[in-house]
Amino acid sequence: IKVQDYRPQAFTDFTLPENVKAYQDALQKVRAELVGKHYPVVIDGVVVETAEKIESRNPCDTDELVGTTGKATPQDAQKALDGAWKAFESWKKWDMDARARILLKAAAILKRRRLEACALMSIEVGKNYAEADVEVAEAIDFLEYYARSAMKYAGFGSSETTWFEGEENGLMSLPLGVGVSISPWNFPCAIYLGMLAAPIVAGNCVIAKPAEDAGLIAGFVTEIMYEAGLPAGVLQFLPGVGKEVGEFLTTHARTRFITFTGSRAVGLHINEVAAKVQPGQKWIKKVVLELGGKDAMIVDETADLEVAITAAVQGAFGFNGQKCSAMSRLIVVDEVYDAVVNGFVERTRALKMGTGEENANVTAVVNQMSFDKVKSYLDLAPQEGTVLLGGQAPGEYGGQPGYYIQPTIVGDVGRDARMAQEEIFGPVVAVLRARDWQDALAIANSTEYGLTGGVCSRSRERLEQARAEFEVGNLYFNRKITGAIVGVQPFGGYNMSGTDSKAGGPDYLANFLQLKAVTERW
Ligand code: GLU
Repeated sequence: IKVQDYRPQAFTDFTLPENVKAYQDALQKVRAELVGKHYPVVIDGVVVETAEKIESRNPCDTDELVGTTGKATPQDAQKALDGAWKAFESWKKWDMDARARILLKAAAILKRRRLEACALMSIEVGKNYAEADVEVAEAIDFLEYYARSAMKYAGFGSSETTWFEGEENGLMSLPLGVGVSISPWNFPCAIYLGMLAAPIVAGNCVIAKPAEDAGLIAGFVTEIMYEAGLPAGVLQFLPGVGKEVGEFLTTHARTRFITFTGSRAVGLHINEVAAKVQPGQKWIKKVVLELGGKDAMIVDETADLEVAITAAVQGAFGFNGQKCSAMSRLIVVDEVYDAVVNGFVERTRALKMGTGEENANVTAVVNQMSFDKVKSYLDLAPQEGTVLLGGQAPGEYGGQPGYYIQPTIVGDVGRDARMAQEEIFGPVVAVLRARDWQDALAIANSTEYGLTGGVCSRSRERLEQARAEFEVGNLYFNRKITGAIVGVQPFGGYNMSGTDSKAGGPDYLANFLQLKAVTERW
């Protein structure tokens, strides 16, 4: 296959009025063509009408129904599984480059429809323009990147073995079979697509169960995969409820692998039930997990405080803190605590609240459950620290009902406080005061998580110490701690943050392959 070297997509500059105008036009087009649409369950390329539907609502205006998806039953899941195993018989025999071409074609289509995908997410999950744009760029990057990394595993002898006289030895990389991909609502385009494209290009078949809150964008990109020529049965589109079809598939004897991005509680549950061998099951299920974080950024007394404050605002409040990579703990050494915290509060105060469609800095959180959960931490905040900004959950904006939460900063939170240990997944930051740099690093490492982390410092020695000792899968110096780019910053965490499987990394496809060593004696 002939391709250029991989290059990440450029982001759109929304300071240019023509780009803002193009986005607004796309919003109109999406309102006319996609809002109100129903994306059904698709099994073996055939639409399956389900008795019930899942409603997707605009979090910034909960009166608005954005559209619906089908709601698969366990019987549908069984059919999807059977059909996928059937499709696997031929899909596994396709050339790697032929499979890769489908991803490249899908990337080309998504590039053409980039603005529509963005606009749909502004309406469905409340992303502002830049957040949506970066996400669709990432979705395209996943397709482009995994198409190229597939080549590494093509053919006999693709992995290194040592020469042995009188024999030919080599390794073959073989797909695993049929797996289920359970994806999150916070990156419903990029992570949804990445989590299905990687196993698929490696020769597996996937049952994709998108998040209940973001079924439309999942349906939109699934259609693109089919349009690019993916054979029916290789990708089964199975919107449904996690507790029903998710549970059915993760426990099923015929599921070979599970890839999940979401909360720690659900991830650990999946890990547990997947470990139990069912009657008739002949493999140990492979589980790839990308879970939560309680991500910290440290600012020491040598730091450029302007850089640190900018990084804190971006890392904490991008998409309302609804990222597993979001900075939810700001750890500042005593000497510069007041200067950093005052700057952070002032800069955050300037953020504009509103809808995704009007490109506000802070929009509504995704659903009632998130709203209630974040609100419970707002109630806790005065007991655990000093509320320096926000602290309210108005639940409406400009007269529109929505899951609005004020950006909230809580100062002098203790290192063992719940707000310093538990993932909140909203626009709420706990600020912790450290005695000095060593104390700050100890605080940073004091949670069970280990996803992203950051240090703002001018001390080479400290940066080197952090490089070695900060227990996270993604570490950033003197910049924000979110926004990993495919191929540039392979993404995934340690400890309770997941299996460190590194999405967008050079070995990600190996998660969905098994190796066979073959020897022929001459
Ligand atoms: N990859 C994203 C980032 O670097 C976060 C993904 C997530 O929240 O699941 O910000």
